[in-house]
Amino acid sequence: MSKRIKLVTERDVIKSVAERWKDQYQFDDGRWASAGVTPGNEVYAILRSLDLETTTAAKINSLLGNDSWTTRECLSCLMSVKTCISFNGRHICIPCVRKGAVAAGIIDPNGGAE
Ligand SMILES: [Zn+2]
Repeated sequence: MSKRIKLVTERDVIKSVAERWKDQYQFDDGRWASAGVTPGNEVYAILRSLDLETTTAAKINSLLGNDSWTTRECLSCLMSVKTCISFNGRHICIPCVRKGAVAAGIIDPNGGAE
């Protein structure tokens, strides 16, 4: 599988949460935007203190107030999903990938590969 086309698991999303937070809340000049009532840099420090290899999505969702940081939105059906395929950074859920393969005639709509 090409590096540009890869499986993205919930753990992959969790492992990238601190750096994505930094990208979202730190300006180019190093200052931080506010993230609600808590300064963005304080939240970043908390995220960095977590063991992202073992921390649960529920814990991060509780910390950040929603599940948008631990899920990906499918570009096709717009559902928030835990696991998806990344096509060069664009996320498609597994059911939509399957529907695409069926539409292309690559797999049988009833299940098995042809
Ligand atoms: Zn989808």
